[in-house]
Amino acid sequence: MTHLPEHLLNGYRNFMSGRYSAESSRYRTLAKEGQAPSTMVIACCDSRAAPETIFDAGPGELFVVRNVANLIPPYTPDGSHHGTSAALEFAVQVLKVKHIVVMGHGRCGGIGAALNPSAQPLSPGDFIGKWISLLAPAAEAIASNQLMTPTERQTTLERISIRYQLANLRTFPCVTILEEKGRLTLHGAWFDIGTGELWVMDPKTGDFERPALD
Ligand SMILES: [Zn+2]
Repeated sequence: MTHLPEHLLNGYRNFMSGRYSAESSRYRTLAKEGQAPSTMVIACCDSRAAPETIFDAGPGELFVVRNVANLIPPYTPDGSHHGTSAALEFAVQVLKVKHIVVMGHGRCGGIGAALNPSAQPLSPGDFIGKWISLLAPAAEAIASNQLMTPTERQTTLERISIRYQLANLRTFPCVTILEEKGRLTLHGAWFDIGTGELWVMDPKTGDFERPALD
C-alpha cells in the first residue's frame, strides 16, 4: 500500500520500463563506482526549467542544486545552515567538477518577487523575502527604471542576477583558486520557457547570446 499520488506512480512505472530498462547497466555501474559528474548546474526550483531535461542529461552527468531564483549567497562561513554553499563545496572540492553553470530562466517568480517586494509577495511566509533580498541592490535599481516595461525589467533582472551569482561564486576561495589554476570554468545561461531558447553568457562582455547549434 502506497500513498504516493497516482501520477507519480504512473511516471515511475514508465521510468522503470523505459529509461531505467534502457540504461540499467549504466545505473548499476554508477551505483558501484559512484558518481563523477563534470558539471554542476545551479538552477531555479521552477518546474518548467529542469536542467536534466534542457541539457538532455542522463544519470550521473549533472550535479544539480536548485533553489528559488537560482541564487548563490556570498561566502559566509558563520555556522548557519547553508544548503547551496554545502552543495557547491561538495561539487568543487569532492567531485572536482570542471564546469559550474548558473542557469536562470524567463518568467521567474522569484525574480518577479524581488522586483515587487511589497506589491505581491510570493508567499506570506518567513523565508522567501529574506532569500530574495540577496538581489535587492540590482532589483531596486531596475525597479525604478520607468523607461522599461515590466517585462523588460523582469528579463533584465533575470540576466543581471546571473552575473551577480557568478560574482558571488567567486567569493568562495575554493572556486577562485581552481578557476585561477584553469581547472574550473564558470558559465551563465538563461532559458526561455515558452520558446525553449537557451541564451548563453559571454564571459568577457556579460552579454547573452544564442549559441549556434549546427
Ligand atoms: Zn525561477
